[in-house]
Amino acid sequence: MNKKMIPEKSKTDQQMIISLKSTEESQIVESEYIFAGKKHNVFFRSLGDTKLSGNPESCIATAILPAMKTGCKEIITTGEVSQRFLTSLATIQYIYKSWNQALTEPTITGLKPIQKSRYNKNRVGLFFSGGVDSFYSLLKHQDEITDIIFVHGFDIKLENKIMREKVFRRIKKVGEQLDKNVIEIETNIQHFFKTVGGLNWGEYGHGAALAATGHLLSPLFCRIYIASSHERGEVIPWGSHYVLDHLWSSEDLEFVHDGFGYSRIKKVAFISNYKIALENLRVCWKNPDNSYNCGECEKCLRTMINLKISNALEKCTTFDKEINYKQISKLIINKEFYGYFIKSNIIELEKTEGNDELIKVLKKLLSQPTWTKKFKKRWTRRKNRLINIFKSWFLN
Ligand SMILES: [Zn+2]
Repeated sequence: MNKKMIPEKSKTDQQMIISLKSTEESQIVESEYIFAGKKHNVFFRSLGDTKLSGNPESCIATAILPAMKTGCKEIITTGEVSQRFLTSLATIQYIYKSWNQALTEPTITGLKPIQKSRYNKNRVGLFFSGGVDSFYSLLKHQDEITDIIFVHGFDIKLENKIMREKVFRRIKKVGEQLDKNVIEIETNIQHFFKTVGGLNWGEYGHGAALAATGHLLSPLFCRIYIASSHERGEVIPWGSHYVLDHLWSSEDLEFVHDGFGYSRIKKVAFISNYKIALENLRVCWKNPDNSYNCGECEKCLRTMINLKISNALEKCTTFDKEINYKQISKLIINKEFYGYFIKSNIIELEKTEGNDELIKVLKKLLSQPTWTKKFKKRWTRRKNRLINIFKSWFLN
């Protein structure tokens, strides 16, 4: 085809138009994002008494990554926005772009920047999933934290009612036992991230999603903690990051990235002193057969070893399996930070006695040549695809 015949991307394909449907405090906040001729609706719904308050900060946090990923050059919206938030947005975009050169840096037009008033608020929130990082931040700052915030649609799919109910029951129990108010929210933001731009939730999306959710609660909180996923020794591009999270703040609401100075092993050692953590800890995101912790995936196994190092594995009632060495040897170390976690576990295990076999298995896993890992990954994908085809034959 002649180069001249290729149509240029129309201007509207490079613009994203945002309209916030309601700015009143309510149980549900909906906003619409028009991009490349398609409308996308994003909702956040409070499932308890807490009211949400729609604002441009939340909408921009929702829109920015999908816009950057899909080549958008301009985001158009209206309303008054925090000057601090808007100024930081350029740095946020710059950081994301430094991680992925293919991203664009759209300009934001139509907003009126203002110095938001700092209301006299004293509630402090924490995004809480029941995992190692958020349990650590909750217990460490339990005198200061007044509320824990749980969001359905982040690590558990909205459609999975069984798992949602199972997990939230425990979140509620933790809130009751530690005398914290529990805020329960559901959202389809992850669906929006996947539909527009196919964003990877871990490596990009979840930090912006936390900011979008947090701003809806800005009339209530002066500060919201975001528990760090990684420690300073393993700085990698990640959606929630010590260089990013605080930049989502406004004059009125501060986001604090917490626990960055502590390794996962140290965090597990800390939370192992608390029965409430050992009885409710949840780290698995694979959840086969809606299991709370499967005990077989990389994250479950890595955490079980962390607990073993702290002599707390037997006391942790949410893991009902022994560490399966054969299962460890089958793991595919296809992410840099998996290797980092294995190395940290080896270093700590070497300080203990009676764990030679486990150390040997972990070292062998680390020595896996890259091509083997790639091959294994490809083979597993193909095998699963074949199994699904066979299943569909038999089921039809
Ligand atoms: Zn698992």
